[in-house]
Amino acid sequence: MDENPTKTNQSAHLALDIGGTLIKMVYLSSDDNCSPDSQVKVSQEESNEISDGLMKCHTGKGTLHFLKFETSKIDDCLEFISSNQLCSHGDLPDKKQPSAHDRKLIKATGGGAFKFADLFMERLGITLDKVDEMDCLVAGANSLLKANNQEAFTYMNGHKEYLQIDHNDMYPYLLVNIGSGVSMIKVEGDEKFERVSGTSVGGGTFWGLGKLLTNCKSFDELLKLSHVGNNRVIDMLVGDIYGGLDYSKIGLSSTTIASSFGKAISENKELEDYKPEDMARSLLRMISNNIGQISYLNALRFGLKRIFFGGFFIRGHEFTMDTISVAVDFWSKGEAKAMFLRHEGFLGALGAYTSYQKEGSGESMSHQLVEQLSNGVQCTGENQRLLPAEIKSQGK
Ligand code: ADP
Repeated sequence: MDENPTKTNQSAHLALDIGGTLIKMVYLSSDDNCSPDSQVKVSQEESNEISDGLMKCHTGKGTLHFLKFETSKIDDCLEFISSNQLCSHGDLPDKKQPSAHDRKLIKATGGGAFKFADLFMERLGITLDKVDEMDCLVAGANSLLKANNQEAFTYMNGHKEYLQIDHNDMYPYLLVNIGSGVSMIKVEGDEKFERVSGTSVGGGTFWGLGKLLTNCKSFDELLKLSHVGNNRVIDMLVGDIYGGLDYSKIGLSSTTIASSFGKAISENKELEDYKPEDMARSLLRMISNNIGQISYLNALRFGLKRIFFGGFFIRGHEFTMDTISVAVDFWSKGEAKAMFLRHEGFLGALGAYTSYQKEGSGESMSHQLVEQLSNGVQCTGENQRLLPAEIKSQGK
């Protein structure tokens, strides 16, 4: 790991999580010299490019911005940092001039912090100060759960409910991060955790396989398509095997999926005979179900009752959350609960952000974040649709 910065500069307010599919960025800008909408200097072009990834939290101390870029378009991210001067010495928050010893250092996590270290140095003169990915995921999740009482929620059968997390009774829990791949982490305390499992069948599988099956050009297109599809066309259901009946003796209803994509083998059909939307739906269901089930089994392994799901695969998508919740509920016979996080995809980036140490006082950035987020959060952007009406209208 690189040496810690000795001085806090503007870069201390920017952190990155460079994953296999997406780059997540969190940065803080002060609200004093510009309006929330003008302070992110995003050109129309850039705005279109990243608009679906833009989310802001206006807090007492400034505005926390949450953005994502596709890792394959890392140039957009570099350009954004450069054109918005997110890592310039000219914006030192303490108004000090940089000394010759100041370096442009930003906290970065994820495999891309290694892979793209030279690129950041060559193009922007930035040194990526690498922070461990699992440390960041856990730090991000813990900070959010402590900071924001509208962070965790359950979602089942179309019903969304925010949960009050008792800070004194937060642990242990299972954190399931569904990114390109999936990590399952048993969290027992602030820095006390163990990655207990994972699966390679994750968000990358959904997007990769889905792209091949449907020719969709973007993840969102695939997700939208899945919304209108019918998985029963391709999945082999218990009722398909039992002549429309339930297999009630072992608790399986006729609509339970017996075999994902299983009907395709028994029909004289080719790929072209299936509608893209039906395949997208079967795929989403298969992957979400599988992750829900493996998560529950790991929770069972360690006696954990609470499972928090994060990662950008979820995207606040109702069907995805519903499927995961039903899987956890079904396999645990109602004993375990799937919970989702509003900042789902930004856990790692927030964890990296909290790893800065506030200059001088020794107070950690995580305390600041807790303050910032609990000071009254008004989020705008992509994830706004996650907010129930009553929160939006509070307009804090
Ligand atoms: P990673 O750190 O591995 O990139 P993320 O948490 O960023 O993981 O999640 C990546 C996954 O999120 C993808 O595999 C895909 O399933 C999903 N996803 C959500 N939005 C997008 C998008 N705009 N482009 C690509 N994948 C997306």
